[in-house]
Amino acid sequence: LFITFEGPDGSGKTTQIHRLAEELENRHLPYLLTREPGGTEIGDTIRSIILNPDHSELADKTEILLYAASRSQHVSEKILPAVREGKIVLCDRFVDASIAYQGYGLGQPIETIKQINHFATGGITPDRTYMIDVSPETGRSRMKSRSGSPEKGATSSASDLDRIERRALAYHQQVRKGFLAIYEENKSRVCLVNGEQDNGQVFSDIIEDFRHFMKQ
Ligand code: ATP
Ligand code: C5P
Ligand code: MG
Repeated sequence: LFITFEGPDGSGKTTQIHRLAEELENRHLPYLLTREPGGTEIGDTIRSIILNPDHSELADKTEILLYAASRSQHVSEKILPAVREGKIVLCDRFVDASIAYQGYGLGQPIETIKQINHFATGGITPDRTYMIDVSPETGRSRMKSRSGSPEKGATSSASDLDRIERRALAYHQQVRKGFLAIYEENKSRVCLVNGEQDNGQVFSDIIEDFRHFMKQ
């Protein structure tokens, strides 16, 4: 079983995916918790190239290919083996993020991004996706106050934002539209969650769907 968490920056993906992992832990269900970009040693090296704020010259097409390269490694080294072992794979971001950020956000051709990612992943698709929706304003204010993921720094100034997070609100508005369009096109796979609610309510929406989904 393959489950992904998607949504704009600061929507609560990482917070919620850890809560779901805790739930699986309590139920003694075998799982793998992983994230993109990264998830492998090679993927983490690629992640640092993409997110480095000094890499302002990084071309849009390069960005698409680097995400796809990181993802390809992640699928073959981690995701597929875990799925084959019968684990529940929880992945923080996947192909939908490339369609939303590089497709809708950067205006790169969506069909091409789909084809590149189909090649990179061998076509593996999540069984269920939790898409947490927030406005870019909410997302940004949460990022500025975050207590800190190690690679992004634990203090709270705008200079802690990564190369993508620093893009204008208009870019992040397009990204959000992209995620909502993906939801509209994939309603049988994607569960849309209102991320403006408090943490506990967001999680109870997710867990309610997850229980229902597991009974099917
Ligand atoms: P990113 O896209 O940057 O990885 P994310 O979607 O993973 O962000 P989190 O890291 O989970 O988001 O949350 C960002 C910040 O907002 C954290 O400081 C977190 O504690 C806080 N936060 C998460 N969910 C909520 C919520 N529902 N209400 C208020 N604050 C929240
Ligand atoms: O989820 P996380 O914050 O770890 O993602 C790292 C960064 O990569 C974020 O700024 C996110 O916006 C960006 N990203 C992106 N395109 C993707 C996936 C992530 O721009 N396809
Ligand atoms: Mg996160």
